[in-house]
Formats: sequence, structure tokens, C-alpha cells
Amino acid sequence: MSHEAIHQDLRGAVRELCRTFPDAYWRDLDARREYPTAFVKALTDAGYLAALIPEEFGGSGLGIAEASVILEEINRSGANSGACHAQMYTMGTLLRHGSDAQKREYLPKIATGELRLQAFGVSEPTTGSDTTQMKTMAVRKGDTYVVSGQKVWISRAEHSDLLLLVARTTPIDQVKKRGEGLSILLVDMREAIGHGLTIRPIRTMMNHATTELFFDDLKVPASALVGEEGKGFRYLIDGLNAERILIAAECVGDGRWFIERASKYANDRVVFGRPIGQNQGVQFPIARAHVNIEAADLMRIKAAALFDSGKACGAEANMAKLLAADASWEAANVAVQTYGGFGFAEDYDIERKFRETKLYQVAPISTNMILAYVGEHVLGMPRSY
Ligand SMILES: Cc1cc2nc3c(=O)[nH]c(=O)nc-3n(C[C@H](O)[C@H](O)[C@H](O)COP(=O)(O)OP(=O)(O)OC[C@H]3O[C@@H](n4cnc5c(N)ncnc54)[C@H](O)[C@@H]3O)c2cc1C
Repeated sequence: MSHEAIHQDLRGAVRELCRTFPDAYWRDLDARREYPTAFVKALTDAGYLAALIPEEFGGSGLGIAEASVILEEINRSGANSGACHAQMYTMGTLLRHGSDAQKREYLPKIATGELRLQAFGVSEPTTGSDTTQMKTMAVRKGDTYVVSGQKVWISRAEHSDLLLLVARTTPIDQVKKRGEGLSILLVDMREAIGHGLTIRPIRTMMNHATTELFFDDLKVPASALVGEEGKGFRYLIDGLNAERILIAAECVGDGRWFIERASKYANDRVVFGRPIGQNQGVQFPIARAHVNIEAADLMRIKAAALFDSGKACGAEANMAKLLAADASWEAANVAVQTYGGFGFAEDYDIERKFRETKLYQVAPISTNMILAYVGEHVLGMPRSY
């Protein structure tokens, strides 16, 4: 079977599953800011969240191209992958850098859904995009690490059993390069909550189940260390290309959803005795948004193909994320404009998706940081920060 045929089958199957979670399901959860437990369970049961886990550990061993098709179709259906995408990209760190024992212990359970690895703890309130300056410390004492500090925007922490935590194990003034001395710990939150870990939900403009984490001398067994101590920043960077490509695919899915809705509405809505879509002022912005989504998709396909063949893809993965996030945001604006007043009404879902797709301009990486990457690493200009 060709790649294209596999993708078509996969698309069809994911689309079918998503159809059982219609607009009203998401609208209702959005109003109550509740986590889509039933949807995530259905995806897990169908094996989609284990797409990247190798077959020997109970997953389907697919590539980033296929995983990105799954997330694209979720967003394309009007849903939001934000509820579950972290399982795909955080798992890569465990797979690439975890010990055999860790992989055998965790991956099969993650594949079946018995264990959820949905939380990734990097961001901190006082240091933001300047990741290497993070202040959360994990101090080794005998067989344990003692963790203290604070994280912010840690999504799905209340709906995950495991947390992939990035913390400093060597103070920054004792390392040669600022990227050194960070480590990754796989924290079992079921044991940690109430014993040094406190989770505080943050209400945001969209339904995202994000939280703040407080670590107060939390004891984590030393066996939770993933890979080597002090190499965590390197491991973090290793996982970023996959994350960028998967997020780009979500943006493409959102963009296609907006464009489909906007074109249909432009055909159906009659004002001044003609469909509004007959006016170039309405039609052309929708056409332009479509062009930009299709162009972004090509970069995402290129980045995924490079990634899956083991080639360098930092530039392409970053560019795909930037292009797709900009294109989905353009499509969101166009859809609101096309719907006029109804674009603001909750019952039409446009405003909900508009709020949701805005996030991709900022998280998991902001547009400026991607431009800084391209300026420095692709074009060879001086580091700007
Ligand atoms: C809903 C949501 C969910 C999230 N989920 C997670 C998660 O699960 N795990 C996690 O670890 N993090 C998560 N994040 C955090 C996210 O990755 C950060 O918000 C993002 O990396 C930006 O960091 P910041 O918010 O501190 O912004 P800052 O770093 O304070 O930046 C603010 C603005 O200034 C710009 N800026 C800063 N420095 C420069 C510079 N040198 N040059 C040009 N522009 C600059 C940025 O581009 C940005 O627009 C989430 C965020 C949100 C809002």
C-alpha cells in the first residue's frame, strides 16, 4: 500500500470516529470548561494515541506523517487535539532516551491507555521562552530527587498520570553552557499530588485544561530520571521537531475547517438578493486563506517526510509550524468576517474555534521564537536574544 493510500484510510477512519463527537459535544464542554474525557478515551481505545509507539511496545509504530494526519483530522472535524496531542510528542523523549526498563514499564501501558502521559512541564512564570533560565530545581539526595519550584501552563496535568518534568539539576552558575545541567524526570503524579505537588487549574479563553504546578520538596525516585543527568535540554530540543510538525498539522486541520465552513456559509447566506460569496470582497479572502493553508501543508508534508527518513528537519519543521499557524489564524479571521454577526454567536462554533486556533501563535512556541530560529540557524545571522 502506498503512503498516500495509508493516509487516506487513516483519514477516513479518524474522520469516522470524530463524527460521533459533533459540534454540540465540543460547544457544551467549552461552556463548562470541561475535559473531553469520552473523546480521548475513544481515541485511545482505537489506538490512535499510540500511533508513534513501536509495535514491540504495543503501539502501531507509525511515522510522524501518519501521526500528523490523525491530529489534522481531529481539528478538521471541529474538535481540538489540545486535549490529547502531548501523548504523541512527549512519548518520543521516553522512547529515544529512556532506559529499557522504563520503556518496558511505561510504553505498553501508555499504548493501552492504562497510563496517561499527557503532561509536559517546561514553562515557568518568571522565565518564559528563556527556557534554560528555569528555576525549578531537582536536587539529588541518595536515591531520590527533591524537587522545588513552580511551573505554569502545564496542560492536562489533571488528566494525566505521568508528567515529563524538566528541571535544573545543576545550578546555572556551575555549568559552562546555559543548556547544560537540566534533566528530565518522569514523575508519577498519582503519588506526587498531596506529597509535594499541588495543581492549580488556570481558566483561559478557550477550553484547554491548563494548570499551574507547585513543587514543595517533592521526592521523586532517582529511577525516574530519563537518560543522563544534565542532558535534559538536548533531549528537549530533540523532541521539538516532532512537536512542531504535529502542531502544524493541527493548524492545517483548523484552517480547512474554517475554510469549509466559510465557503458554505458564503454560498448559503443571501443578502442584497445574492449569496454573499458572489461578492469578491467576501470570496477572495476565503480563496486566499485556502491558498495559504495549502502552501503551509506542503511544508508540513516536506518536514514530516524528512523527519520520518531520519534527516535533519529543524528548518522545515519550524517553518511548517509558523506558516500553518499564520494560515489557520488568517482562515479564522476570514471565517468570522464571512459569518458577520453570527461569527460571534456560540451556536455557530466559529468563535470557539477562533479562540482555539489563536493559541498556536504563542504555544507551544511563539512565532517570534521561530523567526529567531530561522534568522540564526538557517540564515546565519547573529543570535537576537
Ligand atoms: C493554553 C496554553 C497551554 C500551554 N501548555 C503548555 C504545556 O503543556 N507545557 C509547557 O511547558 N508550556 C505550555 N505552555 C506555555 C507556552 O509554551 C508559553 O506560553 C510560550 O512558550 C511562551 O512563553 P511565555 O508565555 O512565557 O511568553 P514570553 O516568553 O514572556 O514571551 C511573551 C511575548 O514576547 C515575545 N518575545 C519574548 N522574547 C522575545 C525575543 N527575544 N524576541 C522576540 N520576541 C520575544 C514572545 O514571542 C511572546 O510573544 C502553554 C501556554 C498556553 C497559553
